[in-house]
Amino acid sequence: QIEIKEVHKAYGDLHVLKGINLEVMPSTVTVILGPSGSGKSTLLRMVNQLETITGGEIDVDGEMIGYKWVQKNSQKVMQTLSDKEIAKQRSHIGMVFQKFNLFPHMTVLENVMEAPIHVAGMKKAQAKKEALAYLDMVGLADHVNHYPSQLSGGQQQRVAIARAIAMHPDIMLFDEPTSALDPELVGEVLGVMRKLADDGMTMMVVTHEIGFAREVADQVVFMDGGVVVESGAADIIDHPQTERFQDFLKAVL
Ligand code: ATP
Ligand code: MG
Repeated sequence: QIEIKEVHKAYGDLHVLKGINLEVMPSTVTVILGPSGSGKSTLLRMVNQLETITGGEIDVDGEMIGYKWVQKNSQKVMQTLSDKEIAKQRSHIGMVFQKFNLFPHMTVLENVMEAPIHVAGMKKAQAKKEALAYLDMVGLADHVNHYPSQLSGGQQQRVAIARAIAMHPDIMLFDEPTSALDPELVGEVLGVMRKLADDGMTMMVVTHEIGFAREVADQVVFMDGGVVVESGAADIIDHPQTERFQDFLKAVL
């Protein structure tokens, strides 16, 4: 579960997020729509602590991220978490980006085994067994010994998803995972994401794939100018209330 409470983000004078409130329930899919520059990536990156919070609070599974309250001289003060504590919180969250960022010098299998072994301390045999299972799940059982450069964009992105899942995250964040793909490869990646959703993964997905949003999203959020303009069940796509959302949908559909 993710609770985003009155979250603000500023880069210097540039106020990018202006009080975002959003709740993502366990085992649900939230799709975030919005024009370029509306703050979608910034919001996802804050959930994963790739950006610091300027104001407000984000709780993941009931725990505030990035900060904690400590008792100091009979006063409660907020303290930044240590790098180790932040790493622990981040380990529960998997993220997939527009660019696949696989390790080019490692095979597909090695890419997926890397973090479980070197970050989570998993035994090599166990990591391999699990990696093979995840690669099978994303339809790449036949490509485990290939190098990333030998794969299509869609295959590479499916490796990136398997690599994220291999860390057993409770939550998966996707930032335009299909935007860099040729159109004919988009479906195979969305198919894997749909399977993950069906398996009960909690997901936040930034995408322009309206069809995916309509079919898979439990919640759709339309952002513009650093605020949530509309949110609700997937059918808000078919009944946009504001002119801004209507115009956006006209442009992408
Ligand atoms: P897109 O659809 O193009 O990916 P987005 O909705 O993801 O857009 P963000 O990347 O979150 O938008 O950016 C929101 C605003 O914040 C933009 O005006 C952007 O220029 C600005 N911004 C993002 N990152 C930084 C940064 N590190 N420093 C300064 N400004 C930034
Ligand atoms: Mg973005």
